[in-house]
Amino acid sequence: MSHGECFCGAVTFEVAGPVTDIYQCHCSLCRRARGSACISMCLASARDFSWISGEDQIRVFSKGNYRSTFCQNCGSPVPHCDPEETTYWIPAGLIDPQQLPDIKVGAHVYVASKAHWDKIGDTGIQYPKDFPSQP
Ligand SMILES: [Zn+2]
Ligand SMILES: [Zn+2]
Repeated sequence: MSHGECFCGAVTFEVAGPVTDIYQCHCSLCRRARGSACISMCLASARDFSWISGEDQIRVFSKGNYRSTFCQNCGSPVPHCDPEETTYWIPAGLIDPQQLPDIKVGAHVYVASKAHWDKIGDTGIQYPKDFPSQP
């Protein structure tokens, strides 16, 4: 069981089962959406995910096919479900790392698009674009 929350604490959620290793996306859209080198996400089965509070605080910004979900109060990125409603994509920084002692960065995607100042220093597999197949 792991617990996550946004910066202001309005949006909170729980994951009852395992989460995947973190993947980081270095594409230009994620860079602009987060104002940072990349986004860091882990995935959990929709069966294991539940909102505790603040679902009404979540807003969505879309640009083309890109969707960014965030807390309207503090601006933190928040989890979202894939269109098939099988998997939640969870910004890894919302969960206290002590609750995920064995987690690591497993993969980097869109490495070909990363900023020149973005230096990858871990052992995660690097893909120039998207995953070769769905994780
Ligand atoms: Zn918030
Ligand atoms: Zn991206």
